[in-house]
Amino acid sequence: MDRMLPPRYDPTEVEPRILAFWEEQDLWRCNPRSGKPPFSIVIPPPNITGRLHLGHNLVYTLQDLLIRYKRMAGFEACWFPGTDHAGIATQNVVERALAREGVTRQDLGRDGFVRRVWEWKERYGNEIIDQLRVLGCSCDWSRQRFTLDPGLSRAVTLAFVRLHEEGLLYRGDYMIHWCPRCGTALSDIEVEHEEVDGHLYFVRYPLKGGGHVTVATTRPETMLGDTGVAVNPRDERHRHLIGKTAVLPLLNRRLPIVGAEEVDPEFGTGVLKITPGHDPLDREIGKRYGLPTVDILNSDGTINAHGGPFAGLDRFAAREEVVVRLKAAGFLEKVVPYRHAVGHCQRCRTRVEPRVSTQWFMRMKPLAEPAIAAVREGRIQFVPERWAKVYFDWLTGIRDWCISRQLWWGHRIPAWYGPDGEAFVAHDREGARRLARERYGEEVPLRQDEDVLDTWFSSALWPFSVMGWPERTAELDVFYPTSVLVTAFDILFFWVARMVMMGLHFMDEVPFREVLITPFIVDEHGRKMSRSRGNMIDALEVKESHGMDALRFTMAQSSTKGREMRVSMRQLDEARNFENKLWNMARFILANTADLPPTAELDGRPLAPEDRWIRSRLSWLVEKVRTELDRYNFHLASDALYHFAWHELCDWYLELAKLRLGGEDVEARATCQLVLREALGIVIRLLHPFMPFLTEE
Ligand SMILES: [Zn+2]
Repeated sequence: MDRMLPPRYDPTEVEPRILAFWEEQDLWRCNPRSGKPPFSIVIPPPNITGRLHLGHNLVYTLQDLLIRYKRMAGFEACWFPGTDHAGIATQNVVERALAREGVTRQDLGRDGFVRRVWEWKERYGNEIIDQLRVLGCSCDWSRQRFTLDPGLSRAVTLAFVRLHEEGLLYRGDYMIHWCPRCGTALSDIEVEHEEVDGHLYFVRYPLKGGGHVTVATTRPETMLGDTGVAVNPRDERHRHLIGKTAVLPLLNRRLPIVGAEEVDPEFGTGVLKITPGHDPLDREIGKRYGLPTVDILNSDGTINAHGGPFAGLDRFAAREEVVVRLKAAGFLEKVVPYRHAVGHCQRCRTRVEPRVSTQWFMRMKPLAEPAIAAVREGRIQFVPERWAKVYFDWLTGIRDWCISRQLWWGHRIPAWYGPDGEAFVAHDREGARRLARERYGEEVPLRQDEDVLDTWFSSALWPFSVMGWPERTAELDVFYPTSVLVTAFDILFFWVARMVMMGLHFMDEVPFREVLITPFIVDEHGRKMSRSRGNMIDALEVKESHGMDALRFTMAQSSTKGREMRVSMRQLDEARNFENKLWNMARFILANTADLPPTAELDGRPLAPEDRWIRSRLSWLVEKVRTELDRYNFHLASDALYHFAWHELCDWYLELAKLRLGGEDVEARATCQLVLREALGIVIRLLHPFMPFLTEE
């Protein structure tokens, strides 16, 4: 720094200029062949529909901090960036845009719709990346990937084909969660259960030969799919009913009464209506007794032809209509208020329906076992450690993963079907044709699966697909496994656990050595931030008011290892004040050392007691910041820097230095200048990962 600094630090002027400088210099391109020890991070790829919120900010700030710190410490530090195609989320956004034009995706057809989504992606899909750049993220942008780009799509197809060959994928009719708004199946973890105030309807089912039984249900419209009635054989009140036949009101379907241990005598009347098409337990019981499975829903949640007179009604309208008719015909015994958990689509908040449907599934047990072992044996470490328990709990009880989605935006499933419905899984249509010829002995028309894969399927391959897998690349040799994954807790199951499983399966090695789970951000009173509450801190507004460095420093300073971390505007103000303090300190030191020859050395000069003191504090600080960053104690590292710079360097040393700087003794003055220059250099370097813009300036 050989120029005078302006009197006031203005981040809105400095930050964009520094950013342009960095990008022009192309400083973050990494070289797998440099011979330096590697340090690597893969970015949690933000959705192309995303907008940077404070939670993202935290995750990306900490990653950038680590990358800059390691880069300065002599590592070949590579941060792999990219974005996620975000199947349902993106399809929803584009469908909403089309709706404003009065067009549906069906109007456009599959190819036309997918083209529209690509156009949307070209226009808006990079906004989130621009926001990361503005934050100062020092990714190797030359390596930016997209989960639907040709290379990653090839990786997805290959993974699917291999898993299929290994017997880890299967297709069949199973109970899944169906979102009628999105028109697709969902995996278990894409459904969020919420307590709602509903009703319990008590309905009389007449018995053939006289009398009746009463069943209780929260979803009376599902009776349209009933194919049986069950009681617990140990239930004295009801066991005489086993073997008799009930008659379904309104539809007059005959329902055999069966005995099943799973029936809870405490629920309702202890008599259970069996709806194998729309309830997992009923499906089990129905299978055991050969009761037919009747799916009463169309994919949009309206009732289909199985619903007789109710066909065409929306499921909720059908519920009302069923209740009205039951009441009119004297079948409705009573209705009582009932609070119960109902599943909602994570993407659109619509109530989901359990439904039997033909889908692809991944067998998870054999994949979960090595993933559990990797953490148990310490090959992957969770920070904070308590997250390992959450991880074990989920993996131990894991169920098969429904991976097919009835969407158009995503990786289309590489399966083709022959005329008899036989599936041929191959890398491409040609491969499927070969398999089909072998089977049928002749050319037959093949039809590709209409479905796409769950967006998390490609995300699970991310740590090695971004490095060029399935090719054997120098990047994979050097940077895999990555050093640390930094992520929020809410994608522990969606993403982290699945990456571990896929990494171990395809690479025979964990995808990362450590997983740093960031705390959940709350406001200064410990309340969740939300738009409706008005306590949101908008990252992009903060950029204008305080600058990104202030935000980054606040993020680091608040990032404890608790479950939650509090962030307030007051902290941002303090960080902004700290910047000014640093700025003034730098101005003072530069102004007072301007006449010092660059070659002057501190070695061999007699030191004043305060020189020895501040230099010993500096060595302590260097050690402290390193130790705390190595332990991911960002708050302790930033606190140490803050207190040293403000209270020791500025409040004490600078004040004492003024005597010698203004004194007559030329040698004493030079010594003091040298100590000041050294201190400034060290503080600036230590602060750089936290406040890259200010320190670069
Ligand atoms: Zn939905």
